[in-house]
Amino acid sequence: MSRPLSSPLFGRGLLDGARQGLYYRLSITQGNTMIRDFFLGFIKLHLLYHAARGPIFGLDMIRELEEHGYTLSPGTLYPMLHGLEQDGYLKSEKQVVNGKTRKYYSATVKGKKALADARRKARELLDEISREDGGESARP
Ligand SMILES: [Zn+2]
Repeated sequence: MSRPLSSPLFGRGLLDGARQGLYYRLSITQGNTMIRDFFLGFIKLHLLYHAARGPIFGLDMIRELEEHGYTLSPGTLYPMLHGLEQDGYLKSEKQVVNGKTRKYYSATVKGKKALADARRKARELLDEISREDGGESARP
């Protein structure tokens, strides 16, 4: 069954845009929002993981994440660390290093539990989405 072109699901504007070659641009924009959400989650997991292994600080994590292909400014990263602390996943401690005050973050018990939980879920997700057949055979 095919949908009428004026399907309210897509709306007239989008279909008109598609006819004018704008559809591609629109879908990229929508995709970016989704991908950004994924990456923000991945980055938080990185932070949690490293903070569970030992104290971390902002600049060091910016460099670490850069190696994984994430380019973050301090203006993006610091509020993330802050938010994770506010939510009780990280705790911070100030230390003076070479005359500069540096804020070190480490994972709390809650943070370590969240990491263990996320690790389990990430493994399961990877197992599923890595299937060659796209997971079709796993469906009844
Ligand atoms: Zn990492």
